[in-house]
Amino acid sequence: MDMSFDDLDHDYAASVADRAMRGMAEQRIPPTPNNFAVWFHYVAGAHDDLRNAIDLLIDHNRPFDVRTNQDLFETYVAPNAGAAASETSKRLHGLMGAAKEFLATAIADNRSQLQAINDVADQGQAGVDPKALVSQLMNELARAATRATRLEAGFAEKARELDVIRDSLSKSEERARTDTLTGLANRRALDEFLRKAQATAEWGEPLSVLMLDIDHFKTFNDNFGHGVGDQVLRLMAKVLREKVRVDDLPARYGGEELMAVLPDADLAACAEIAERIRRAIGECTITRRSTGEVLPNITVSIGVAQYRVGEAIADLVERCDRALYLAKGGGRNRVVTENELDRAWAAG
Ligand code: GH3
Ligand code: MG
Ligand code: MG
Repeated sequence: MDMSFDDLDHDYAASVADRAMRGMAEQRIPPTPNNFAVWFHYVAGAHDDLRNAIDLLIDHNRPFDVRTNQDLFETYVAPNAGAAASETSKRLHGLMGAAKEFLATAIADNRSQLQAINDVADQGQAGVDPKALVSQLMNELARAATRATRLEAGFAEKARELDVIRDSLSKSEERARTDTLTGLANRRALDEFLRKAQATAEWGEPLSVLMLDIDHFKTFNDNFGHGVGDQVLRLMAKVLREKVRVDDLPARYGGEELMAVLPDADLAACAEIAERIRRAIGECTITRRSTGEVLPNITVSIGVAQYRVGEAIADLVERCDRALYLAKGGGRNRVVTENELDRAWAAG
Protein backbone atom coordinates (compact mmCIF):
# COMPACT_ATOMS: atom_id res chain seq x y z
CA MET A 1 0.00 0.00 0.00
CA ASP A 2 1.21 3.47 -0.74
CA MET A 3 -0.17 4.98 2.46
CA SER A 4 2.53 7.07 4.13
CA PHE A 5 2.35 8.19 7.71
CA ASP A 6 5.40 10.43 7.50
CA ASP A 7 3.48 13.60 8.22
CA LEU A 8 1.78 12.40 11.41
CA ASP A 9 2.66 14.47 14.44
CA HIS A 10 4.46 12.81 17.30
CA ASP A 11 1.60 12.58 19.79
CA TYR A 12 -0.93 11.23 17.34
CA ALA A 13 1.51 8.67 15.91
CA ALA A 14 2.48 7.62 19.44
CA SER A 15 -1.16 7.11 20.41
CA VAL A 16 -1.81 5.05 17.26
CA ALA A 17 1.32 2.99 17.95
CA ASP A 18 0.21 2.50 21.53
CA ARG A 19 -3.25 1.28 20.53
CA ALA A 20 -1.72 -0.97 17.86
CA MET A 21 0.53 -2.57 20.49
CA ARG A 22 -2.40 -3.03 22.87
CA GLY A 23 -4.56 -4.55 20.11
CA MET A 24 -1.79 -6.99 19.26
CA ALA A 25 -1.29 -7.90 22.92
CA GLU A 26 -5.03 -8.59 23.31
CA GLN A 27 -4.95 -10.92 20.33
CA ARG A 28 -1.65 -12.48 21.42
CA ILE A 29 0.00 -11.35 18.21
CA PRO A 30 3.80 -11.21 18.25
CA PRO A 31 4.86 -7.56 17.80
CA THR A 32 7.04 -8.16 14.74
CA PRO A 33 7.63 -5.30 12.26
CA ASN A 34 5.10 -6.69 9.76
CA ASN A 35 2.40 -7.31 12.36
CA PHE A 36 3.01 -3.87 13.77
CA ALA A 37 2.59 -2.36 10.32
CA VAL A 38 -0.74 -4.21 9.92
CA TRP A 39 -2.04 -3.00 13.27
CA PHE A 40 -0.78 0.52 12.82
CA HIS A 41 -2.72 0.72 9.55
CA TYR A 42 -5.72 -0.86 11.28
CA VAL A 43 -5.77 1.54 14.22
CA ALA A 44 -5.11 4.54 12.00
CA GLY A 45 -8.14 3.50 9.94
CA ALA A 46 -6.04 3.89 6.82
CA HIS A 47 -7.71 1.14 4.87
CA ASP A 48 -11.38 0.10 4.96
CA ASP A 49 -10.78 -3.41 3.63
CA LEU A 50 -8.14 -4.08 6.26
CA ARG A 51 -10.41 -2.78 8.99
CA ASN A 52 -13.27 -5.00 7.83
CA ALA A 53 -11.00 -8.03 7.60
CA ILE A 54 -9.63 -7.61 11.14
CA ASP A 55 -13.03 -6.73 12.63
CA LEU A 56 -14.50 -9.84 11.09
CA LEU A 57 -11.72 -11.99 12.53
CA ILE A 58 -12.22 -10.46 15.97
CA ASP A 59 -16.03 -10.74 15.80
CA HIS A 60 -15.69 -14.41 14.95
CA ASN A 61 -13.11 -15.09 17.60
CA ARG A 62 -10.69 -16.24 14.95
CA PRO A 63 -7.13 -16.87 16.11
CA PHE A 64 -4.55 -14.52 14.66
CA ASP A 65 -2.15 -17.31 13.85
CA VAL A 66 1.06 -16.96 11.87
CA ARG A 67 -0.68 -17.60 8.56
CA THR A 68 -3.47 -15.14 9.21
CA ASN A 69 -1.03 -12.42 10.23
CA GLN A 70 1.08 -13.09 7.18
CA ASP A 71 -2.00 -12.98 4.93
CA LEU A 72 -3.12 -9.68 6.41
CA PHE A 73 0.29 -8.20 5.82
CA GLU A 74 0.66 -9.51 2.30
CA THR A 75 -2.86 -8.60 1.29
CA TYR A 76 -3.23 -5.16 2.76
CA VAL A 77 0.13 -3.71 3.72
CA ALA A 78 3.01 -5.38 1.82
CA PRO A 79 5.01 -2.69 0.09
CA ASN A 80 5.73 -4.62 -3.12
CA ALA A 81 2.33 -4.11 -4.71
CA GLY A 82 2.68 -0.37 -4.18
CA ALA A 83 6.33 -0.35 -5.19
CA ALA A 84 5.64 -2.22 -8.40
CA ALA A 85 2.82 0.16 -9.20
CA SER A 86 4.97 3.21 -8.54
CA GLU A 87 7.78 1.80 -10.70
CA THR A 88 5.24 1.33 -13.46
CA SER A 89 3.84 4.78 -12.97
CA LYS A 90 7.37 6.22 -13.29
CA ARG A 91 7.83 4.42 -16.60
CA LEU A 92 4.46 5.60 -17.73
CA HIS A 93 5.42 9.15 -16.91
CA GLY A 94 8.64 8.83 -18.91
CA LEU A 95 6.70 7.47 -21.81
CA MET A 96 4.21 10.33 -21.75
CA GLY A 97 7.10 12.78 -21.80
CA ALA A 98 8.61 11.02 -24.82
CA ALA A 99 5.25 10.99 -26.59
CA LYS A 100 4.84 14.73 -26.02
CA GLU A 101 8.29 15.38 -27.46
CA PHE A 102 7.43 13.29 -30.49
CA LEU A 103 4.29 15.25 -31.08
CA ALA A 104 6.13 18.54 -30.70
CA THR A 105 8.71 17.35 -33.24
CA ALA A 106 6.00 16.21 -35.61
CA ILE A 107 4.26 19.56 -35.41
CA ALA A 108 7.52 21.51 -35.86
CA ASP A 109 8.45 19.28 -38.81
CA ASN A 110 5.10 19.90 -40.39
CA ARG A 111 5.54 23.65 -40.06
CA SER A 112 9.03 23.73 -41.54
CA GLN A 113 7.92 21.44 -44.34
CA LEU A 114 5.02 23.74 -45.14
CA GLN A 115 7.40 26.68 -45.05
CA ALA A 116 9.83 24.96 -47.45
CA ILE A 117 7.05 24.17 -49.90
CA ASN A 118 5.77 27.73 -49.67
CA ASP A 119 9.28 28.96 -50.45
CA VAL A 120 9.39 26.74 -53.52
CA ALA A 121 5.99 28.07 -54.59
CA ASP A 122 7.20 31.66 -54.13
CA GLN A 123 10.14 30.92 -56.39
CA GLY A 124 7.69 29.53 -58.97
CA GLN A 125 5.87 32.84 -59.00
CA ALA A 126 9.23 34.61 -59.34
CA GLY A 127 9.68 32.78 -62.67
CA VAL A 128 12.41 30.28 -61.77
CA ASP A 129 13.12 27.36 -64.13
CA PRO A 130 10.28 24.80 -63.63
CA LYS A 131 12.72 21.84 -63.83
CA ALA A 132 14.70 23.19 -60.88
CA LEU A 133 11.43 23.79 -59.04
CA VAL A 134 10.30 20.19 -59.53
CA SER A 135 13.60 18.83 -58.30
CA GLN A 136 13.48 21.12 -55.23
CA LEU A 137 9.96 19.98 -54.52
CA MET A 138 11.05 16.33 -54.85
CA ASN A 139 13.86 16.97 -52.39
CA GLU A 140 11.51 18.51 -49.86
CA LEU A 141 9.09 15.61 -50.17
CA ALA A 142 11.90 13.05 -49.76
CA ARG A 143 13.07 14.83 -46.60
CA ALA A 144 9.53 14.92 -45.28
CA ALA A 145 9.13 11.19 -45.98
CA THR A 146 12.37 10.37 -44.11
CA ARG A 147 11.25 12.43 -41.12
CA ALA A 148 7.85 10.76 -41.15
CA THR A 149 9.44 7.29 -41.25
CA ARG A 150 11.68 8.16 -38.32
CA LEU A 151 8.73 9.45 -36.35
CA GLU A 152 6.68 6.40 -37.17
CA ALA A 153 9.45 4.06 -35.99
CA GLY A 154 9.71 6.07 -32.78
CA PHE A 155 5.98 5.86 -32.24
CA ALA A 156 5.96 2.11 -32.85
CA GLU A 157 8.72 1.61 -30.29
CA LYS A 158 6.87 3.66 -27.68
CA ALA A 159 3.68 1.74 -28.40
CA ARG A 160 5.55 -1.50 -27.71
CA GLU A 161 6.82 -0.07 -24.42
CA LEU A 162 3.27 0.90 -23.56
CA ASP A 163 2.17 -2.71 -24.11
CA VAL A 164 4.88 -3.91 -21.73
CA ILE A 165 3.76 -1.42 -19.12
CA ARG A 166 0.11 -2.33 -19.52
CA ASP A 167 1.06 -5.97 -19.11
CA SER A 168 3.08 -5.38 -15.97
CA LEU A 169 0.31 -3.26 -14.48
CA SER A 170 -2.29 -5.94 -14.96
CA LYS A 171 0.09 -8.59 -13.61
CA SER A 172 0.75 -6.61 -10.45
CA GLU A 173 -2.97 -5.97 -10.08
CA GLU A 174 -3.55 -9.69 -10.43
CA ARG A 175 -0.88 -10.46 -7.82
CA ALA A 176 -2.46 -8.07 -5.34
CA ARG A 177 -5.70 -10.03 -5.61
CA THR A 178 -4.33 -13.55 -5.52
CA ASP A 179 -3.43 -15.75 -2.59
CA THR A 180 0.15 -16.91 -3.07
CA LEU A 181 -0.21 -20.40 -1.62
CA THR A 182 -3.38 -21.56 -3.37
CA GLY A 183 -3.61 -19.23 -6.35
CA LEU A 184 -7.21 -18.52 -5.35
CA ALA A 185 -8.65 -15.05 -4.93
CA ASN A 186 -7.47 -13.55 -1.64
CA ARG A 187 -9.53 -11.74 0.96
CA ARG A 188 -9.31 -8.41 -0.79
CA ALA A 189 -10.64 -9.86 -4.05
CA LEU A 190 -13.25 -11.85 -2.15
CA ASP A 191 -14.54 -8.77 -0.31
CA GLU A 192 -14.75 -6.85 -3.54
CA PHE A 193 -16.53 -9.66 -5.37
CA LEU A 194 -19.02 -10.02 -2.53
CA ARG A 195 -19.77 -6.31 -2.56
CA LYS A 196 -20.47 -6.37 -6.27
CA ALA A 197 -22.52 -9.56 -6.05
CA GLN A 198 -24.53 -8.01 -3.24
CA ALA A 199 -25.46 -5.06 -5.43
CA THR A 200 -26.91 -7.44 -8.04
CA ALA A 201 -28.59 -9.59 -5.42
CA GLU A 202 -30.48 -6.57 -4.10
CA TRP A 203 -32.57 -6.85 -7.27
CA GLY A 204 -33.70 -10.30 -6.25
CA GLU A 205 -31.17 -12.55 -8.00
CA PRO A 206 -30.16 -15.36 -5.65
CA LEU A 207 -26.65 -15.27 -4.18
CA SER A 208 -25.18 -18.01 -2.04
CA VAL A 209 -21.89 -18.72 -0.35
CA LEU A 210 -20.19 -21.81 0.94
CA MET A 211 -17.42 -21.96 3.48
CA LEU A 212 -15.16 -24.94 3.71
CA ASP A 213 -12.88 -25.93 6.56
CA ILE A 214 -10.51 -28.89 6.62
CA ASP A 215 -11.30 -31.43 9.34
CA HIS A 216 -8.65 -31.99 11.99
CA PHE A 217 -6.08 -30.14 9.96
CA LYS A 218 -4.01 -29.31 12.98
CA THR A 219 -3.47 -33.01 13.65
CA PHE A 220 -2.64 -33.56 9.99
CA ASN A 221 -0.02 -30.79 10.12
CA ASP A 222 1.34 -32.18 13.38
CA ASN A 223 1.67 -35.64 11.91
CA PHE A 224 2.98 -34.85 8.44
CA GLY A 225 4.40 -31.35 8.64
CA HIS A 226 3.25 -27.96 7.39
CA GLY A 227 4.77 -28.52 3.96
CA VAL A 228 2.52 -31.51 3.32
CA GLY A 229 -0.32 -29.51 4.89
CA ASP A 230 0.28 -26.77 2.35
CA GLN A 231 0.11 -29.34 -0.45
CA VAL A 232 -3.25 -30.46 0.88
CA LEU A 233 -4.48 -26.88 0.96
CA ARG A 234 -3.47 -26.47 -2.68
CA LEU A 235 -5.31 -29.65 -3.57
CA MET A 236 -8.46 -28.41 -1.80
CA ALA A 237 -8.17 -25.16 -3.75
CA LYS A 238 -7.90 -27.11 -7.00
CA VAL A 239 -11.00 -29.15 -6.28
CA LEU A 240 -12.92 -26.04 -5.27
CA ARG A 241 -11.89 -24.27 -8.46
CA GLU A 242 -12.92 -27.22 -10.58
CA LYS A 243 -16.34 -27.65 -9.01
CA VAL A 244 -17.62 -24.09 -9.27
CA ARG A 245 -18.72 -22.31 -12.42
CA VAL A 246 -16.72 -19.63 -14.20
CA ASP A 247 -18.89 -16.85 -12.84
CA ASP A 248 -18.45 -18.06 -9.25
CA LEU A 249 -15.54 -16.97 -7.11
CA PRO A 250 -13.48 -19.54 -5.23
CA ALA A 251 -11.32 -17.80 -2.63
CA ARG A 252 -9.13 -18.33 0.39
CA TYR A 253 -11.00 -16.88 3.33
CA GLY A 254 -8.28 -17.40 5.90
CA GLY A 255 -5.72 -19.99 7.01
CA GLU A 256 -7.32 -23.32 6.13
CA GLU A 257 -10.73 -21.96 5.30
CA LEU A 258 -11.82 -21.57 1.72
CA MET A 259 -14.94 -19.94 0.45
CA ALA A 260 -16.90 -19.82 -2.78
CA VAL A 261 -19.37 -17.16 -3.78
CA LEU A 262 -22.07 -18.36 -6.15
CA PRO A 263 -24.09 -15.62 -7.80
CA ASP A 264 -27.34 -16.92 -9.30
CA ALA A 265 -27.38 -19.96 -7.03
CA ASP A 266 -30.04 -20.46 -4.37
CA LEU A 267 -29.43 -22.39 -1.17
CA ALA A 268 -30.35 -25.78 -2.66
CA ALA A 269 -28.12 -25.31 -5.72
CA CYS A 270 -25.22 -24.15 -3.58
CA ALA A 271 -25.69 -27.07 -1.17
CA GLU A 272 -25.58 -29.47 -4.10
CA ILE A 273 -22.28 -28.04 -5.31
CA ALA A 274 -20.95 -28.09 -1.75
CA GLU A 275 -21.86 -31.75 -1.53
CA ARG A 276 -20.01 -32.48 -4.78
CA ILE A 277 -16.96 -30.67 -3.45
CA ARG A 278 -17.09 -32.57 -0.17
CA ARG A 279 -17.36 -35.90 -1.95
CA ALA A 280 -14.57 -35.09 -4.44
CA ILE A 281 -12.21 -34.09 -1.64
CA GLY A 282 -13.01 -37.23 0.34
CA GLU A 283 -12.11 -39.30 -2.71
CA CYS A 284 -8.72 -37.65 -3.28
CA THR A 285 -5.76 -39.89 -2.68
CA ILE A 286 -2.87 -37.96 -1.19
CA THR A 287 0.56 -39.40 -1.54
CA ARG A 288 3.71 -38.02 -0.02
CA ARG A 289 5.93 -37.01 -2.92
CA SER A 290 9.21 -37.89 -1.25
CA THR A 291 8.29 -41.42 -0.18
CA GLY A 292 5.20 -42.31 -2.21
CA GLU A 293 3.48 -43.10 1.09
CA VAL A 294 -0.31 -42.85 0.89
CA LEU A 295 -1.61 -40.46 3.54
CA PRO A 296 -4.95 -40.71 5.33
CA ASN A 297 -7.89 -39.23 3.44
CA ILE A 298 -8.74 -35.61 4.07
CA THR A 299 -12.31 -34.59 4.78
CA VAL A 300 -13.90 -31.18 4.93
CA SER A 301 -16.93 -29.64 6.56
CA ILE A 302 -18.92 -27.08 4.60
CA GLY A 303 -21.45 -24.45 5.63
CA VAL A 304 -23.88 -22.96 3.11
CA ALA A 305 -25.97 -19.78 3.29
CA GLN A 306 -28.03 -17.63 0.95
CA TYR A 307 -28.11 -13.86 0.89
CA ARG A 308 -31.23 -12.14 2.22
CA VAL A 309 -32.13 -8.89 0.50
CA GLY A 310 -31.22 -5.90 2.62
CA GLU A 311 -28.83 -7.64 4.99
CA ALA A 312 -25.12 -6.87 5.38
CA ILE A 313 -22.61 -9.20 3.75
CA ALA A 314 -21.13 -9.76 7.21
CA ASP A 315 -24.46 -11.28 8.29
CA LEU A 316 -24.44 -13.67 5.35
CA VAL A 317 -20.89 -14.73 6.12
CA GLU A 318 -21.72 -15.16 9.77
CA ARG A 319 -24.66 -17.46 9.01
CA CYS A 320 -22.46 -19.48 6.68
CA ASP A 321 -19.86 -19.72 9.42
CA ARG A 322 -22.42 -20.88 11.95
CA ALA A 323 -23.64 -23.55 9.53
CA LEU A 324 -20.02 -24.66 9.12
CA TYR A 325 -19.58 -24.99 12.85
CA LEU A 326 -22.80 -26.93 13.07
CA ALA A 327 -21.26 -29.29 10.52
CA LYS A 328 -18.19 -29.62 12.73
CA GLY A 329 -20.31 -30.24 15.81
CA GLY A 330 -22.40 -32.80 13.92
CA GLY A 331 -19.36 -34.99 13.33
CA ARG A 332 -17.53 -33.24 10.43
CA ASN A 333 -17.22 -34.44 6.80
CA ARG A 334 -20.64 -33.00 5.97
CA VAL A 335 -22.50 -30.11 4.39
CA VAL A 336 -24.86 -28.09 6.57
CA THR A 337 -27.08 -25.29 5.28
CA GLU A 338 -28.42 -22.35 7.18
CA ASN A 339 -31.84 -24.04 7.27
CA GLU A 340 -30.47 -26.41 9.86
CA LEU A 341 -29.47 -23.47 12.03
CA ASP A 342 -33.14 -22.68 12.62
CA ARG A 343 -33.85 -26.31 13.38
CA ALA A 344 -30.88 -26.56 15.74
CA TRP A 345 -32.08 -23.38 17.40
CA ALA A 346 -35.69 -24.62 17.66
CA ALA A 347 -34.45 -27.88 19.15
CA GLY A 348 -32.65 -25.79 21.77
P1 GH3 B 1 -11.48 -28.77 12.87
O1 GH3 B 1 -11.89 -30.07 12.30
O2 GH3 B 1 -12.31 -28.39 14.05
O3 GH3 B 1 -11.48 -27.70 11.85
O4 GH3 B 1 -10.01 -28.97 13.41
P2 GH3 B 1 -8.71 -28.24 12.92
O5 GH3 B 1 -7.56 -28.92 13.55
O6 GH3 B 1 -8.69 -28.17 11.44
O7 GH3 B 1 -8.98 -26.77 13.44
P3 GH3 B 1 -8.07 -25.69 14.07
O8 GH3 B 1 -8.73 -24.38 13.81
O9 GH3 B 1 -7.77 -26.02 15.48
O10 GH3 B 1 -6.72 -25.74 13.29
C1 GH3 B 1 -6.55 -25.21 12.03
C2 GH3 B 1 -5.20 -25.59 11.60
O11 GH3 B 1 -4.97 -25.19 10.27
C3 GH3 B 1 -4.11 -24.99 12.44
C4 GH3 B 1 -3.16 -24.33 11.46
O12 GH3 B 1 -1.86 -24.67 11.70
C5 GH3 B 1 -3.60 -24.94 10.14
N1 GH3 B 1 -3.38 -24.03 9.06
C6 GH3 B 1 -3.95 -22.82 8.86
N2 GH3 B 1 -3.45 -22.26 7.75
C7 GH3 B 1 -2.56 -23.13 7.22
C8 GH3 B 1 -1.70 -23.12 6.09
O13 GH3 B 1 -1.66 -22.16 5.30
N3 GH3 B 1 -0.92 -24.19 5.87
C9 GH3 B 1 -0.93 -25.25 6.71
N4 GH3 B 1 -0.15 -26.28 6.44
N5 GH3 B 1 -1.69 -25.29 7.80
C10 GH3 B 1 -2.50 -24.25 8.05
MG1 MG C 1 -10.44 -23.57 10.91
MG1 MG D 1 -10.14 -27.13 10.40
